[in-house]
Amino acid sequence: ATPTAIMVGTGLGARAGILFRNADALEQAQKLTTLIVDKTGTLTQGKPTVSDVISAAGVRQEDLLSVASALEAGSEHPLARAIVEYADSKGIKAPLAKSVNAIPGMGVIGQVDGFSAYLGSPNFLKKNGFIENDTLISNLEEEGKTVVGVGKGEQFLGFIALSDHLRPDAVSTVKALKKAGITVVMLTGDNERTARVVAQQAGIENYMAAVLPEGKADAVKKFHASGHCVGMLGDGINDAPALAAADVSFAIGTGADIARDTADIVLMRNNLAGVLDALSLSQATLAKVR
Ligand code: ADP
Ligand code: MG
Repeated sequence: ATPTAIMVGTGLGARAGILFRNADALEQAQKLTTLIVDKTGTLTQGKPTVSDVISAAGVRQEDLLSVASALEAGSEHPLARAIVEYADSKGIKAPLAKSVNAIPGMGVIGQVDGFSAYLGSPNFLKKNGFIENDTLISNLEEEGKTVVGVGKGEQFLGFIALSDHLRPDAVSTVKALKKAGITVVMLTGDNERTARVVAQQAGIENYMAAVLPEGKADAVKKFHASGHCVGMLGDGINDAPALAAADVSFAIGTGADIARDTADIVLMRNNLAGVLDALSLSQATLAKVR
């Protein structure tokens, strides 16, 4: 496209809340054949709320919540914020957790009341030697909920389930992308069952679950290597490697700083439909020079 067309396209984008951070993105966007979309905070609103608190036999709910809240107090993860808020609303006074470490895509470990304490995905709890109730977990996950487990010392304390909702324009945007001939793929660090339910709700047939941040980038590279022009749309720290690997990357405006700084295109209106606007602008910009 000519410099003038690029300038006009960028200006129209700005007015529509689409920030093109480089001219290349404006030219490349219309070539997309595959769009990879993150789940939590991108396809969903990223505002999970606690739906179920299930303490283990002989454990009080307050004790489960206070250990959970202690571990999550310093985390910016959407699940962490929901857990801390919920515990606060129940009047729980959480102790101070020490040496808290986050393990991306897994959970957190820290010292609470002099014991090592764990909070995270069922797999993460399993890896750390805690028993779990598989049927209970799968039933909750079948409802599209994310389940985290909590353990302290040798003791399993119980589960907390959280639910998040699709963004209001998720279904219509996926439909329009498919109609435009673009393959939509959902990627998530969340578990298989929750991923399946959310993908189904959004009208997405292709999804990959339990993917760690580097795995998201590998997936982008794999599609690229098989001849696709790959777009990546994400919001989180865990999406940054994949955004960097994509041919054209999109970040949600309210996403993590690193996601916005890495992406070629920022959706300032924090909606998914912005991707469709970006594609139309890209097409219009190129049409002007033909
Ligand atoms: P997504 O790819 O969908 O944005 P993440 O990679 O951030 O999800 O997280 C994947 C999973 O790791 C979560 O579903 C949860 O089970 C676990 N997890 C990671 N960090 C935390 C945390 N701070 N609190 C609770 N669970 C966590
Ligand atoms: Mg996310």
